[in-house]
Amino acid sequence: MVYKDFQDIKLSALGFGAMRLPVTGEEMDAPIDEARAEEMVAYAMEHGVNYYDTAYGYHEGQSEIVMGRILGRYPRDSYYLATKFPGYDLSNMDKVEAIFEEQLKKCQTEYFDFYLFHNVYEKNIDLYLDPQYGIMDYLLKQKAAGRIKHLGFSAHGRYDTIRRFLEEYGEYMEFCQIQLNYVDWKLQDAKAKVELLEEYKIPIWVMEPLRGGKLAELSEEDTASLKAVRPEEPVPAWAFRFLQSLPGVTMVLSGMSNMEQIKANILTYEEDKPLNEAEMKVLLETADRMMNILPCTACRYCTAHCPKGLDIPTLLSLYNETRYTNGLITHMAVDALAEEKRPQNCIGCKSCEAVCPQQIEIAGAMRDFTEKLQEEVGL
Ligand code: SF4
Ligand code: SF4
Repeated sequence: MVYKDFQDIKLSALGFGAMRLPVTGEEMDAPIDEARAEEMVAYAMEHGVNYYDTAYGYHEGQSEIVMGRILGRYPRDSYYLATKFPGYDLSNMDKVEAIFEEQLKKCQTEYFDFYLFHNVYEKNIDLYLDPQYGIMDYLLKQKAAGRIKHLGFSAHGRYDTIRRFLEEYGEYMEFCQIQLNYVDWKLQDAKAKVELLEEYKIPIWVMEPLRGGKLAELSEEDTASLKAVRPEEPVPAWAFRFLQSLPGVTMVLSGMSNMEQIKANILTYEEDKPLNEAEMKVLLETADRMMNILPCTACRYCTAHCPKGLDIPTLLSLYNETRYTNGLITHMAVDALAEEKRPQNCIGCKSCEAVCPQQIEIAGAMRDFTEKLQEEVGL
């Protein structure tokens, strides 16, 4: 196992994500298959994984309970446990104390090694920063009392939102968890976010290194182009090698759903094998091809021509994302927009297309985006 220094401790560079544990039925919301989860944790422990990441909402609240039970069988100082304050649900904002106490009980522990503001994004940042809820004050007190060892945040928000959070709370943040992989490097502006965190000297924790499993298997053409430069590397390992090439990355969390995945990930993490410049170029070119994204350059020539006042480049950026995700992230971002700014307000007049230097078929994209949102998340 590769280890990384974090302050005065050594963390396994691969962490065990408890967001998609094995379940007993076909549906993702079926009860967790605890026996299989226990075997997976045992394998991870034996192979040097010392970081376990859960959250209040994972598996509808069951992940913390099951992970607490499983990890409770190991000496408390043999692993690091992370969980998060569920501020993605705005109704939790005034319950920080009750939720924190409940989490300690659920996880059968007296302290959390790592505790995060869960998902800072456009919709909750005002409340996270609002002193009336006292979330930061409360968490700092828990830290002073030794019940939180390290405080950080996770974010699906956009660059400006993360910057705003850092401007207010950056001095207290010891780490930040973002969605980072070779597709999101461009698609979700992850490169700029990495540079921002480096500016604040905040170590990076990575979620969705395989983009919910989508980077575990590529088309024949994409697989062949990667094999041509590193024949021995399995396709999923490229996602981890990409992350090993970024100096700011300390922790990579992979949601573990079965033994096969955990074995493969641990095998990859027996070695640190960053990509060289040529390999990185091939990988990022592959990512561009995979995304087949609409080539909006955000020049904004179109926006003044839209009778509905839509922020077309932002919507196209979200549309590009939704074509390559399960819609969850896009759902949150669209939900954070005022109703009159959502893609369903497009009337198909094509005034925008007449001035678009990239000749993007914007009206069709808005129609398709609207349909996708309705199908996937009922927006
Ligand atoms: S087609 Fe839609 S996005 Fe384009 S100008 Fe008309 S209303 Fe705006
Ligand atoms: S004019 Fe075209 S390229 Fe420019 S912002 Fe609008 S859609 Fe994007």
